[in-house]
Amino acid sequence: MSNAKDRNPAGDDPVTVLRGVGPALADTLARLGVHRLIDLLLHLPYRYQDRTRTVPLNRLQPGRQCLVEGQVVESRINYGRRRSWLVTLQDDSGYLTLRFFHFAKRQFDSLKTGHRVRCFGEARFGPKGMEMAHPEYRVFVDAPPPPGGGLTPVYPVTKGLTQGRLRGLTRQLQDMDWPEDDVAPYGTLLYLHQPPAEATDEDIATAQERIARDELTAYYLVMRYRQSRRARQSAMPLPRSQQLGRRLLENLGFELTGAQRRVVTEVLNNLTQNTPMLRLLQGDVGSGKTVVAAFAAIRAAEHRAQTALMAPTEILAEQHYLNFSEWLTPLGIQVVLLTSGLRKKEREARLQSLADGEALVAVGTHALFQHDVTFNNLGLTIVDEQHRFGVHQRMALRAKGRTPHQLVMTATPIPRTLTMALYADMDVSVIDELPAGRQPIETRLISASRRNEVLDRIARVLGAGRQAYWVCTLIEDSDQLEAQSAEATWQTLKARLPRMGVGLIHGRMKSEEKAEVMARFHSNDYRLLVATTVIEVGLDVPNATLMVIENPERLGLAQLHQLRGRIGRGREKSHCILLCADELSETGRARLKVIRESRDGFHIAEQDLKLRGPGEIMGTRQTGDTQFRVADLARHAHLIDDVVREGKRLLKEAPEDAEALLQAWAPADTGHIAV
Ligand code: ADP
Ligand code: MG
Repeated sequence: MSNAKDRNPAGDDPVTVLRGVGPALADTLARLGVHRLIDLLLHLPYRYQDRTRTVPLNRLQPGRQCLVEGQVVESRINYGRRRSWLVTLQDDSGYLTLRFFHFAKRQFDSLKTGHRVRCFGEARFGPKGMEMAHPEYRVFVDAPPPPGGGLTPVYPVTKGLTQGRLRGLTRQLQDMDWPEDDVAPYGTLLYLHQPPAEATDEDIATAQERIARDELTAYYLVMRYRQSRRARQSAMPLPRSQQLGRRLLENLGFELTGAQRRVVTEVLNNLTQNTPMLRLLQGDVGSGKTVVAAFAAIRAAEHRAQTALMAPTEILAEQHYLNFSEWLTPLGIQVVLLTSGLRKKEREARLQSLADGEALVAVGTHALFQHDVTFNNLGLTIVDEQHRFGVHQRMALRAKGRTPHQLVMTATPIPRTLTMALYADMDVSVIDELPAGRQPIETRLISASRRNEVLDRIARVLGAGRQAYWVCTLIEDSDQLEAQSAEATWQTLKARLPRMGVGLIHGRMKSEEKAEVMARFHSNDYRLLVATTVIEVGLDVPNATLMVIENPERLGLAQLHQLRGRIGRGREKSHCILLCADELSETGRARLKVIRESRDGFHIAEQDLKLRGPGEIMGTRQTGDTQFRVADLARHAHLIDDVVREGKRLLKEAPEDAEALLQAWAPADTGHIAV
């Protein structure tokens, strides 16, 4: 079998040149976006384990993974509530218990008193001192050799691919003879796959920064390419015609804010052109983005061009539908709602009216881009809360028309520096003003041990005829656990407030159930709504003036800000109570202070970037929550100015280098690079 080591590898070589990579493993790797060797090189560890030195048993810290060694002094089976096998280790400094809930007889026989063991696992407090449950271990009859080696990488993996397997593959990369290259920083990549034992957090951060810079530059280039491709396309121009918008202004019942007027003008001017619009509309929660979208839809309708408005949840889609119907129907514009729960007949009727071009506006969820949905003449797509959708979904919607104009809206404030790089393909409009007369929200931190006072407070607020939210959060990314915790809280609160209607809403409920709960909260039948973070977007109940958020320290500031935006919508002053852990970290406290003191989403986002600072390299960076493989906006925001400058330089002076960078990072220009 040919060995990749025998020849000079190229980044473009398929992974199948590696030993042991056949079609099956290649398929599995493809699920991680790894097709070529360069993809594997760029598939970097998100953290490292230090298995290069052992920690004395009396120095173990709970919650930390580490390597330990000791001699077995006892091995017994404990028949408690749950059968477990306990092994006590001893070293010069102290003891440690290993606990196994399931084990084979062969394992049991191999760990005998007197044997030496080297384990890797996470220490935690047990009934009798420190324990490790199910550690990885190796048994030695005599003293084990010194551990040595480099740091152990921990990779994002997928079903059917273990850390061990992936480590084996990246070790093969280390053995190859990579060229020195300016464009492809092979040396840095190899270093990040296996840093030496003495590498500090800082060394690793520096290397990551080097790669993040490339990734962000590639991203910027993709955005710029998309922009120029769009500039060459043509769209249906939608100039001013019947002035239906003026009639909406008269019927609206409120004055537009100055910011709304400015933004409406920006959007409408953009629509008059014959190149397709791609505009990002940013505006804090409650700043009034929906009505801006309505003006755009009206302009399209004046030309008998259709608009599709897509929202991330059914609740939100329904709210938009109600607003749009109220605003547009009097102007003779027919609006239909498309959600997934529709009966077949009803759905068919609505689809027909879109296909005929009779209905000019379709509001809905993902149901909008199912393949049986056809438009007569789709001229404009509007995506609300765009961060909830992937680029593919936005594209799928766009594909329902020829080259429709696109408006994407977000309440997630994006610091200006980031907008320049991340949304380089879009024009940006910002609503930086809230409608007048908004009541302030007073935000307080209260420690969880004072929960009872908070419950009394809720009883008073509800007693006075107001409504409240109780938001449960969970750190694990699990719908199910989150639902369970909300359910438990709901039971407690119901028992505690027997005469008040208490509703429950969470992501595991069917959409009809959710809609029903929402309706009952709207109609004040439910006075208190226990919710998970599903209520984050869109909900508009002005009578709700109190929100309690449990464990706010677990949420990002942007998310907290969004949640809090559910209150402060009526005439009464509102209150937000952050029920926090009794012991907050310094940063945790500083972050919540930002939320307490500001209601300006942009300011909050900027502070959040600053406070999250350099992050923990060896520690707990989560995977999967970002659109980047290496870059982490919290840690690399300071690179953006450079990235934009470098991107512009490459486009102008070194298009071949720009091409090479894109070849490495985004060969198809889509995939992991998403807006
Ligand atoms: P968001 O930007 O969060 O999507 P919405 O469009 O849902 O905000 O608007 C929030 C609420 O404010 C809605 O009830 C809307 O009718 C109302 N609203 C919007 N603009 C104004 C305004 N200029 N004056 C008063 N109320 C407004
Ligand atoms: Mg909105």
